Amino acid sequence: MRSLALLLSCAAVLAAGCSKEPEPAPVAATPKPAAAAPVDHDEHSYAEPQKVAIDDLALDIAVDFDAKTIGGTATYTLDWKDKAATRLVLDTRDLTIAKVEGEANGAWAPLQYALAPKDAVLGSKLTIETPARNAKVRVTYTSSPEASGLQWLTPEMTEGKQLPFMFSQSQQIHARSWVPLQDTPQVRYTYSAHVTSRPDVMVLMSADNDPAAARDGDYTFKMPQKIPSYLMAIAAGDLVFKPISARSGVWAEPAMVDKATKEFEDTEKMIAATEQLYGPYRWDRYDMLVLPPSFPYGGMENPRLSFITPTVIVGDKTLVSLIAHELAHSWSGNLVTFSSAKHGWLNEGFTSYVENRIVEALYGKETSSMEYSIARNSLKKEIGTMPEATQSLAVKPGTTLDADDALSAVSYDKGAWFLQFLEERFGRQEFDAFLRGYFDHFAFQSITTEQFLDYAKKNLFDKHPNLVTDAEIQAWVYGTGIPANAPQVQSRGFSNTDTARIAWQGSGQLPNPQLTGGWVTQQWVHFLEGMGEKLTVEQLKQLDDAYHFTGTANGEIAMRWYPLTIRSGYVEARPEIARFIERVGRRKLIMPIYEELVKTPEGLALAKESFARARPGYHPITTGSVEALLAKASAAP
Ligand SMILES: [Zn+2]
Repeated sequence: MRSLALLLSCAAVLAAGCSKEPEPAPVAATPKPAAAAPVDHDEHSYAEPQKVAIDDLALDIAVDFDAKTIGGTATYTLDWKDKAATRLVLDTRDLTIAKVEGEANGAWAPLQYALAPKDAVLGSKLTIETPARNAKVRVTYTSSPEASGLQWLTPEMTEGKQLPFMFSQSQQIHARSWVPLQDTPQVRYTYSAHVTSRPDVMVLMSADNDPAAARDGDYTFKMPQKIPSYLMAIAAGDLVFKPISARSGVWAEPAMVDKATKEFEDTEKMIAATEQLYGPYRWDRYDMLVLPPSFPYGGMENPRLSFITPTVIVGDKTLVSLIAHELAHSWSGNLVTFSSAKHGWLNEGFTSYVENRIVEALYGKETSSMEYSIARNSLKKEIGTMPEATQSLAVKPGTTLDADDALSAVSYDKGAWFLQFLEERFGRQEFDAFLRGYFDHFAFQSITTEQFLDYAKKNLFDKHPNLVTDAEIQAWVYGTGIPANAPQVQSRGFSNTDTARIAWQGSGQLPNPQLTGGWVTQQWVHFLEGMGEKLTVEQLKQLDDAYHFTGTANGEIAMRWYPLTIRSGYVEARPEIARFIERVGRRKLIMPIYEELVKTPEGLALAKESFARARPGYHPITTGSVEALLAKASAAP
């Protein structure tokens, strides 16, 4: 998705996960003067956490595959900060509320409540009257079959085709579609859950999953560390476990588990490398759940259980930087969290930087340089087309931006670039120690960009005066474009790839197979990205005969090769293009292909046909993106 400038519906953009996948550049953004609300107010939530905050959540819920609902009770233990407050406001979306009760003197009694009409973006505000400021409040509810944060798959849409599958995607503001919550990262709480389901599916949550748990339809979970609501997660299906180490392993469908465990076998080494750099892993277990190909993102950093797309399982571990990314979130994001989506770079920029350090520690500088280079080439291309207001990492306090502007490649890649800039200025040793101290200092807190800058001033900038100027920091954080002092990365592997491509384009002579035989995914990606707008059909055929790009199982190659073939009129690839976009629902991989298809009438027809077939299996987030694109293309003169 990094190279796209595509209009999405507001709801789809709010779906934006961290998830390693930046959002497309927003089409329009207007900085607005802040309203009278406090500066750190989260405009994506109705909650009033400065008055009362959820301290603990106890769920007792049933997963109903026939009705496609999750329902039961949510019991909140509350921390009343304002002793004069008389109401608890929760976020909900498409929930049916059956009953609200408050506990007083050990007994439950009904409370008055009002569910407001639905706002398209924020959902329905649930206002509960609590004149007694009850220590505990309990809501009985049911989710809608159309819950924006859940996807229900029939058995036919799974690998094994025997059992149905269900999974959540709560980031940014979809947790409220399956649990009534203060759905803002400004509130952190512990949770426990008792979950029932049909007995033949395994249920997992972002909690203490037991690898030895019996599959019996009755499960209990505990999350003893305080988390923000967007990290609430649940999944259920034909899931089996295979260990990687004593504290890490893979949950997947039986047909996928061996392949996934092999692909991700370096995970324990990644955890150890990150602990070496930034201090202990604080979440006990680190497991990965491999989802069906319809998962709309690369991954989602649900604590203790990252959700992972199967599209990174390519057999040679060349795409496991995704695992490094989701793991890195255990420090940046899950431990130290942005206080609202407009500080997105605190999660994603830091995570992209830590991801790259993990990749360097395990696979060497050359691999980490290639990854930086691909991301930055794309950012450089994209940032020039973005509205100026969205080119900065953060907006100055006193300005608010549309929710749509929160998470783009700027948050991810410019954020990581800024941290690499600081690392170079202060030296790796000093900067690593600083970052480790930062994670300790703000552990289990949700913070703003300004809190980070204050901390950095005291603990880094002022300690080593004259290494950076205030103007440089301001330009990186609040400025547009890429600062001229941005560090450059060099990759020997990419120089070879460039040489091979240029030679072929000049002479028609393909590079020596001994050379290309050793290429990794990143080099093929770079090889294709340098091809320019179009090639001749003969050139594409020559490449295809030699490298079999059409029909590739590697989505990173597919998302670059197929648009090139569409632009160049190489129709031989079309059947495989249709197969790919109908099988995979990960937006980053398929949106560039749809984008290219809709530019011609024949392509648009193919896109519509494929979408019609794929739609039942796509996630609501992907469906929203494709629908918006097709509608825009169909409306164009
Ligand atoms: Zn992320």
